[in-house]
Amino acid sequence: MFMMHDNPCLQCGACCAAFRVSFFNGEADPNLGGVVPESLTEDLTPHICCMKGTNQSKPYCIALAGKVGVEVRCAIYERRSSTCRGFGFHPTDGMFVADLDEVRRCNKARKACNLPPLKVKNLAAL
Ligand code: SF4
Ligand code: SF4
Repeated sequence: MFMMHDNPCLQCGACCAAFRVSFFNGEADPNLGGVVPESLTEDLTPHICCMKGTNQSKPYCIALAGKVGVEVRCAIYERRSSTCRGFGFHPTDGMFVADLDEVRRCNKARKACNLPPLKVKNLAAL
C-alpha cells in the first residue's frame, strides 16, 4: 500500500479529466435508489451510463469544478457514482492510502493531464 499525508485529490482531478467514468445506470435512477443526477449522465448501453463529458477523446467530467492540477472539487461529491467512490486514494487513519494499481492509474491520468507523478510513500518500506 502507498500513502500520502495530505489528500492529493484536492489539487489533482486528473482521473475526472482522463477516463470514461461509467457505471450501472440504476445509480442514476431514483426509482432504483440511484442518487447520481441523471441529467449529468449519458447512456452507453441499455444498462451502463457514464458521466457526461467523459465519453470523448479528451474526457472532462461535467461535474468537475475548478482547475485540474491546481484546485478541484466534485460538484456532486455526495451523489457521485460507485466508480468515483471506489477510485484512487482512500482516507485511512488520518492518511490517504491507495494500492499499487490505483497509484499507477492515478499517474496514468496525471500524465494524460500533463501533471507529474505523485510522490507517494510505500507503507511496506516504513
Ligand atoms: S488521479 Fe488519483 S490523485 Fe488525482 S484526483 Fe484522481 S484519485 Fe485523486
Ligand atoms: S462525478 Fe465527480 S468524482 Fe466522478 S468523475 Fe465527475 S467530477 Fe470526478
